[in-house]
Order: sequence, then C-alpha cells, then structure tokens
Amino acid sequence: MGGRGSGRSSSFSMTVDKTNEFHSIDLAWLGRRKLLNPGQWSTLTWSRRGQTTGSIRLEVFQSAVRLVYRHRPSGGDWQDVSEWVPLVETETPFGGRRQWFECVSCRARCRILYGGGRFRCRRCRRLRYESQYEPPFARAATRALKIRERLGDRSGIDDPFPPKPKHMRWKTYERLETEYDRLNDAWAVGIMARFRP
Ligand SMILES: [Zn+2]
Repeated sequence: MGGRGSGRSSSFSMTVDKTNEFHSIDLAWLGRRKLLNPGQWSTLTWSRRGQTTGSIRLEVFQSAVRLVYRHRPSGGDWQDVSEWVPLVETETPFGGRRQWFECVSCRARCRILYGGGRFRCRRCRRLRYESQYEPPFARAATRALKIRERLGDRSGIDDPFPPKPKHMRWKTYERLETEYDRLNDAWAVGIMARFRP
C-alpha cells in the first residue's frame, strides 16, 4: 500500500504536550509511518486535551515537501500559506543515506521543523521567539529575511537579492536593497566573529 506516486492520502493526529508548545513536523516520525513517498499527501493534525490546535496538508515530492496551511499573524487576517521545504540527503558512515529538511530561513539541515507562524528549524524558532535575547547579528538576519519576505521571496539570507515585484516602486525597491546589504553585512560579520575557531 502507499506505493510511489500512488497519490494515497492519509490523516494523522499528534498530541501537543506541555514541553512542546510548538506544532512540530518530525522527519523520522513521518518516515516511520511511511508518509514520505513521492506523490503522497497527508493531513497532519495537532491537538491538546482533545482540542484540535492546528492542521496542515503535507505533500511529498522527489526532493521537497510542500506544506499547505492557514496562518493568522497576531492581529492580522488569515493567510493561505504554501511552503516548499527542500529535502536533502547525506551519507551515513556505514554507507546508508539519511534524509533531512533544509530550513527555509537559514538553510541548515534539520530533522524537526517547528511551527508558530512558519515552519522553521529549532534555531530559527528560538531567534524569533526570544528576540529580546537575540545577539545583534541574529536580529540583523531576522530583519533581512523580513525584507526578502516583503519581496515575496523565502529563500536563504545568502541567496541573490530577489527581483523587484511588479507592483513595487523602484525607489522603494532600491531603499530595501540598500538596507538589505547593510543587514546582510552585519549578519555575516557577526557570524564570522562568533564561529571563528
Ligand atoms: Zn533555520
């Protein structure tokens, strides 16, 4: 059952416990339930004390998953979100292969994505929710990624600056580009200082 490309759908529920306030998507969990065949899609539902707290549709492709859900930013209107998360593979020491999500924000490999707005790696989630403790370089990264989002782009901070959206004025675009370059610089300098051996 559930062969490659069969388009089989399934529905799964997860319970959100106290230690895990975020809705999370665990690649290993999906793999064990055979939910990662290309062409397959499933509905994942989270609940707490019997109450549904969230639900997404997960579609599996050859080297990516697509997450389809609705999200309501605090004080805002509901938005339809369709997010592509790349799947990457690494080789294990004993000749096996291991699959990972690639975080859409920082492009790090991770096994678990945490919801709460968008699905990101643990590190990106912490950056977002503990912004008052953010080191300046991380704050710069967060702001830089916001500019990308404004341009309708969700790729990594080191990717080429996105093209100007049709509706945006050149003046605005150029201002955002200048600001982005400054933030990207601050981020790169901060990262280097922090991780220099
Ligand atoms: Zn990340």
